[in-house]
Amino acid sequence: MTELKSKYPPMTLNMAPAPEHQPSRALSGYGNPDLNSGSSLLMIQSVTVSFDGFKALNDLSFAVAERELRAIIGPNGAGKTTFMDVVTGKTRPDRGRVMFGATDLLRRTEASIAQLGIGRKFQRPTVFEEQTVFENLTLALANPRSPSASIAYRMSAGDRDRIHEIAGLIHLSDVLDVASGSLSHGQKQWLEIGMVLAQQPRLLLVDEPAAGMTPAERDRTVTILRNVAETCAVVVIEHDMEFVRNLSCRVTVLNEGMVLAEGSMDDVVRNEDVIDVYLGR
Ligand code: ADP
Ligand code: MG
Repeated sequence: MTELKSKYPPMTLNMAPAPEHQPSRALSGYGNPDLNSGSSLLMIQSVTVSFDGFKALNDLSFAVAERELRAIIGPNGAGKTTFMDVVTGKTRPDRGRVMFGATDLLRRTEASIAQLGIGRKFQRPTVFEEQTVFENLTLALANPRSPSASIAYRMSAGDRDRIHEIAGLIHLSDVLDVASGSLSHGQKQWLEIGMVLAQQPRLLLVDEPAAGMTPAERDRTVTILRNVAETCAVVVIEHDMEFVRNLSCRVTVLNEGMVLAEGSMDDVVRNEDVIDVYLGR
């Protein structure tokens, strides 16, 4: 954090998104997703979540475009995980609006939200350790929410192709026949991402993917998430600033349940408010 401070000395307060540094992807939504434009894939409006009177989210508004890659940073307790809990239907807000395209997520159950195409990769691994990478991906493709459907499932050639495609995306093509329990920590995380991708989400939510990874695994995770964002929107919560910088996407800084700043990484690390509450002086 101190390193960041010296590299990016405080300048003028600048809450506007950076006009420079457009990523090459045409549909990145990097420009400035307008809350009212109707072009957003995910739109959060004035969402408040209280736990015993404490506001974990406090009138939070923010939007993510189709196929956008977005990073969320912020101090512990800022409400980052609660935001994901609201989007996936795990936590119900006291008030506000949560739209996924034209669908009002607040009227949906957690299971129905997943079926709409919102996938979440949890921090705690949930792969079947005894099963190979291929088998885990097969189970995810078949239907993870229905064990009986998985048993009755028969693989088509298309599914096999899809598994190989996903394995390539998550850099596990060479270990398809390896038991998942013997994968490295990073490889297990990628497999988990692959298992969510098998569900063909339109939005992937990832909470602190780089935690516990080696530097090489982190770099590869950046590549994976950037590639995933070619076909589906990805929202990544992460503490590792180098990791977030390498994602080179729009960054939202949360603090006390609100958006403190939003823009390019260069923008937000120069932002006076961000330096005050997050990076430290
Ligand atoms: P972050 O992920 O940014 O670290 P969280 O969203 O996990 O923050 O938490 C935001 C705040 O809400 C914290 O103060 C946390 O203690 C509180 N909180 C989160 N979930 C619950 C819960 N289920 N019950 C009570 N308080 C909670
Ligand atoms: Mg959290």
